[in-house]
Amino acid sequence: MRSTGAISSAQLRELEADIRSELARIERSLARDAQEEALLADSSSLRVASGTASDGGLTVTLTGRVHARHAELTEALRRIEDGRYGVCGHCGEGIAYGRLLVVPEATNCLECR
Ligand SMILES: [Zn+2]
Repeated sequence: MRSTGAISSAQLRELEADIRSELARIERSLARDAQEEALLADSSSLRVASGTASDGGLTVTLTGRVHARHAELTEALRRIEDGRYGVCGHCGEGIAYGRLLVVPEATNCLECR
């Protein structure tokens, strides 16, 4: 261990694999949503049956959140490539491995959260 809180390169590779599989999962679910929306738009009778304003709003909100997570995870991968990953953006200390396992896109340590 180099210093307290710093993650090893093996841990970094593990986190990178986690981030990549989570990104793949999000991309699959977004692709499925887009396909379902296209099917709904094609079928006017189905749209009348299920088309309430609140349903549409919920879908948009959920998709927006998924898009935001996707952007954060993509940004985390970029930090891994730059060698800036796992460092608190506020105090510059290493972010604990346990925290990164739970929140791989974290940019602050627990104290600065
Ligand atoms: Zn910090």
